[in-house]
Amino acid sequence: MEDNYDAVIIGAGTAGTYFAKLLAEKGFKVLVVDKSSREDLGKRLDIFHIDKELFDRFGIPAPSASDEDYVTEFEYTISKSAFDEFPKRINYPFVVMRLPHFLARLTSWAEKSGVSYAFNTEFVDFIYAGDQISGAILNQNGNTLKVNSRLVADASGISSVGRRKLKNGYGVENFEIGPHEKFYVILRYVKLKNPETDRVTYNITWPYYKTWIAPQLHEDGAIFGVGANFSYDYAEEIYQKFISQVKLPPHEVQFIEKGTTPYRRPPYSFVADGFVALGDSACLTKPYSGEGITSGWVLSKIAAEEFSQAMQDGKYPDTKSVWNTNVRYQRGQGADFAYMMCTLIGAVNSTAKENHYQFKKNIVFNEKDMTDMNRDFAVNLSFGSTISLVFKILIGLITGNISLSTLKALIRAVLTADKLRKHYQKYPEEISSFEIWKQKADTLWESAGTMADAAKK
Ligand SMILES: Cc1cc2nc3c(=O)[nH]c(=O)nc-3n(C[C@H](O)[C@H](O)[C@H](O)COP(=O)(O)OP(=O)(O)OC[C@H]3O[C@@H](n4cnc5c(N)ncnc54)[C@H](O)[C@@H]3O)c2cc1C
Repeated sequence: MEDNYDAVIIGAGTAGTYFAKLLAEKGFKVLVVDKSSREDLGKRLDIFHIDKELFDRFGIPAPSASDEDYVTEFEYTISKSAFDEFPKRINYPFVVMRLPHFLARLTSWAEKSGVSYAFNTEFVDFIYAGDQISGAILNQNGNTLKVNSRLVADASGISSVGRRKLKNGYGVENFEIGPHEKFYVILRYVKLKNPETDRVTYNITWPYYKTWIAPQLHEDGAIFGVGANFSYDYAEEIYQKFISQVKLPPHEVQFIEKGTTPYRRPPYSFVADGFVALGDSACLTKPYSGEGITSGWVLSKIAAEEFSQAMQDGKYPDTKSVWNTNVRYQRGQGADFAYMMCTLIGAVNSTAKENHYQFKKNIVFNEKDMTDMNRDFAVNLSFGSTISLVFKILIGLITGNISLSTLKALIRAVLTADKLRKHYQKYPEEISSFEIWKQKADTLWESAGTMADAAKK
């Protein structure tokens, strides 16, 4: 490891390595540090799912069937009601992959572009020149090292070690992602007792419980997953409720994987002088699934374009020169995710019976809207379908299948969500207007509430 780099990136996960590769391609000298060893990288998770259509968009080589990271792929997901009925088919293809092998392939792809890696190397703190970040203090096998760099990127995942070390008022919020702002995910890797009849070749989800079953490496196996706020115990409680209503195929649990994923609004600004927050550290997970790999790449790509422009000819990337990173992200995916997160907070107020009724009558849970949500992160309702939706909801109300309080919560959520989306779409181009924009955003998020509060009711 040398003493001077253009950029130091904390974390060799999907967000950090992708960002590093894009900067190195532009000719910058980039160091990625990770506290894990190269062999253990990504071992916290084995199987994951990734949007098949997005490899090309990000210029990332998709795995071929002979690659170690490839498991299988499927063209659609089935989603079912709280009482396991009225299946909806969501036509959106996913590839099933293995994280440690994918990260190994991604790392060597970045190394070919000149990215350097330092494993077993932990970020400790920033170095400042005056008030501005100018490098990182690292710990490698008990030795303290100092590395100078014009940019330090935090891609350390949910622990957000870099962002949380920022001084108050440095320009990016330094909050810790607490238990109310995480999803606790429990994955049971199981062996099916009757694989000939019960083989799992695509995902099936039950949005009411936030549970799913999915394929895994072994054809006679499957993954049974659940995600919930607060704690693993609470997630387990929900899982027990789920299996009391939904009959799963006979199976034997082989092992259990656990992990957390951010579930809160991202910081309002991702950039500050010589700094950017990326991936889980910036809370970029998809609001309806907790998946964060491709949604994290959206910001990594924008940030790489903006920072490489700002850092040309040895220039220091101060907040002003990279502000457009915020504008481009927040007006696009940021606005869509804010809309969706707020709508979902309203939607989780339904009871199991109401959820079942909504599936039956195609209210919100219908094939077109669910496919749109996966592909575009937005539901595109025509005038005709809006009228039909309102009509169906009114019938539900009159017949007692939807309660007034559920309806009120949903309407309030959708109205606030719409205001939030419009507000994000007007993210200020000038830093001088940011404070006023932020105050209004705070008010809207306060009125939206949080998923944890909604789940507790
Ligand atoms: C159980 C579970 C299942 C999931 N399934 C999916 C899925 O199917 N599809 C999907 O898209 N997403 C899924 N996600 C979410 C996904 O894993 C994350 O959104 C994504 O991996 C985040 O990538 P990242 O690069 O931001 O962070 P990470 O992958 O967490 O990488 C951060 C890296 O930083 C390193 N690090 C941490 N602290 C330090 C330090 N002090 N110094 C140096 N290095 C440090 C870590 O060792 C790590 O390698 C799942 C999450 C969980 C918990």
